[in-house]
Amino acid sequence: MAGDDFRELLDAMADPLVACDGDERVLYLNPAAERLLGWTQRELTGQPFARLVPERLRSFEDHSFLRYLLGRRRALSGRPVRVALLRHEGPELEVEVTVGTSMGAEGERIAVVLRRPPELPDYTDEPLERLSSAAPSRTAPPGSAGERAYQLVFENAPLGLFHFDTTPVIVACNDYFVRIMGSSKRMLIGLNLLTLQDEAILTCVRDVLSGRHAYYEGEYQSVTSGKVTPVRTHFAPCLNEHGEVEGGVGIVEDVTEQRSTEAERDRLFREAQEAIRVRDDFLTIASHELKTPLTPLSLRLASLERRLERKEPVDPTLLRHARQHLVRLAALINDLLDASRIEAGRLALHFEPTRLDALVERALTAMDAERGQHRIDYSHPEEAVRIRGDPYRLEQVIANLLENALKYSPADSTVRVTLDVRGDFALLSVADEGIGIPRDQQEQLFERYFRARNVAVTSYGGLGLGLYISRDIVERHGGRIWVESEVGRGATFYVALPLLSAANPTPPEPRPATDSPQPVH
Ligand code: ADP
Repeated sequence: MAGDDFRELLDAMADPLVACDGDERVLYLNPAAERLLGWTQRELTGQPFARLVPERLRSFEDHSFLRYLLGRRRALSGRPVRVALLRHEGPELEVEVTVGTSMGAEGERIAVVLRRPPELPDYTDEPLERLSSAAPSRTAPPGSAGERAYQLVFENAPLGLFHFDTTPVIVACNDYFVRIMGSSKRMLIGLNLLTLQDEAILTCVRDVLSGRHAYYEGEYQSVTSGKVTPVRTHFAPCLNEHGEVEGGVGIVEDVTEQRSTEAERDRLFREAQEAIRVRDDFLTIASHELKTPLTPLSLRLASLERRLERKEPVDPTLLRHARQHLVRLAALINDLLDASRIEAGRLALHFEPTRLDALVERALTAMDAERGQHRIDYSHPEEAVRIRGDPYRLEQVIANLLENALKYSPADSTVRVTLDVRGDFALLSVADEGIGIPRDQQEQLFERYFRARNVAVTSYGGLGLGLYISRDIVERHGGRIWVESEVGRGATFYVALPLLSAANPTPPEPRPATDSPQPVH
């Protein structure tokens, strides 16, 4: 609409300005108007000016908004008119408007100059402004000492405060409120609260205008910045000396931090609950497991007692069976004690030079009674496999792997035990042809209380502690334990332990890719 020179001047003007043609279509708006109205130059150009005018003001005394104001110019003699205009997206904003018109070569031009109602200074990020705001002349508001004190309280309160009149337009707010809204004072002052979209806030504002207190808690999205903040807001009416409502005040608290500490507390609480649940489940399982050997044991003892009383000959199988149940009971109790020692960091190991091949053989011999119809293949190097370790604890690890292999595979299948030397390490593998372990549970097997969620497994019993204890023992020897398995196709457990001769061994990676140790067939 204007020549380029003019345009530059208008662009730089601090007051928002909108220019229209004679048909009241927008030709131009300067950056200050863009900021105030939330419309961009691009969006608004060519649109009727009425888009900026609330419905109820579009036609006044048979004139359009602009024509009415133009007609009143003389009577107003330059005084601006305080009216509501629509910001982009709907909220109403109270502004002061002056209009002017001129006739040029291209027809009529209407200039609409807008101004925000006079308010507290709006310090932005402009360094010059910040410097000025530090000067006493700028911060000292006019008025009495009492007024100044109130002003200081208002500005420095550690909560967002805003004050609105009966229209209800925001007439004042502090910087804290501006920060919570992520907006600017320029945008917030003059905002008509009844034009906000948020139903909960509207209800609060209506309550306040009817003289009641109100409270809002929840997410609030600022219409001027789009920022979403969890807030807690108390609303109260401002009553004059006659008890009439003169507006309201809102106190806003940003509860983002509280929310995140609440979320953290909830998370910890859920974790603790889960730990308690796991422990409860474990206690139930453990009680059942401990009870299982007791009934047959007491039956056998009773029968033994009867026979002795009657001076009948005692069947040694009876005694052997009784002893087996006792051994089972002792093993369960030992596992429980070991697990709690590990938890307390008190499982003692006694290291000494040891022959791993001899330990494997001892464990196999001890297992002889339990192997039933299982075949056990054992292959090992000719020479002794020397390591440094705790013989008692290592035998416990080997025995646990053998027991599991027997327990989780069919009676007539084969268990293959292989001892080998790989670089600085002794590598023991125990492979079965049993039910196998789902891939996603292969890591968890070594956790405390873990029993695979494999339906078939439930009937096998066990406390889910053996592998937990084994991992602790193996890792404290500088070794590693891991499993490779496919469901239904058996499982192979590997234990790698540093050789006595090794200087500074680094345990091999689980799942060795190229020279993956294969069980001997
Ligand atoms: P448990 O006393 O329950 O056997 P472990 O810690 O020794 O405790 O084993 C943990 C879980 O790992 C077992 O409950 C079982 O689900 C699974 N598991 C262990 N060894 C094998 C195996 N050879 N084949 C299949 N699953 C196994």
